[in-house]
Amino acid sequence: MKGGKLIIFSAPSGSGKTTIVRHLLKKPELNLAFSVSATSRPRRGKEKNKEHYYFMSVSEFKNHIKNDDFLEWEEVYRDNFYGTLKSEVERLWAEGKNVIFDIDVVGGLRIKKKFPDQTLAVFVKPPSVDELKIRLKKRSTESEDKINMRIAKASVELATAPQFDKVIKNYDLDVALKESVDLVASFISNDKE
Ligand code: 5GP
Repeated sequence: MKGGKLIIFSAPSGSGKTTIVRHLLKKPELNLAFSVSATSRPRRGKEKNKEHYYFMSVSEFKNHIKNDDFLEWEEVYRDNFYGTLKSEVERLWAEGKNVIFDIDVVGGLRIKKKFPDQTLAVFVKPPSVDELKIRLKKRSTESEDKINMRIAKASVELATAPQFDKVIKNYDLDVALKESVDLVASFISNDKE
């Protein structure tokens, strides 16, 4: 597999990375396309198949693993598999796009390792674990148990920040959005940060 640029935004759940990625996708000059991941987790709220995720059963997901269809995959939470299909990235590269990912830290670092020169890996840092909890509760799409699971994982994820090319602090969203646009624009125009 070989092609255009890869832009990874990884962070603990609730850090605001999805908001940042959506903002970046609205900038035509960045020529970005979103890598839709596959997942076995249930659909939430207004999520649409093939737009937010390729939703599938655990057994379908495991079949894709067996067929070596994934660039990376992860059991992010128990029985909740997430992965990037090789076919998805190839499709977007064929369209001449730079591919942007909203994935967990382990997956993000795996892709960076596979494509070190064409990847910009960004870690989005929340103000604190307490603030994350408040944000996840406000989102109120998950049970208390699930929120606690995400919080427990966040502390481990925060320790991986130094392995990324850049860390963006999301303490003030407007500042984080501007910083992200500048960073991606410079990576795309300069070949490599
Ligand atoms: P959520 O269930 O909130 O949509 O996502 C849970 C976590 O899984 C988030 O950190 C999200 O970024 C991550 N995730 C989404 N897609 C992928 C993927 O393709 N691979 C990996 N490794 N993680 C993913």
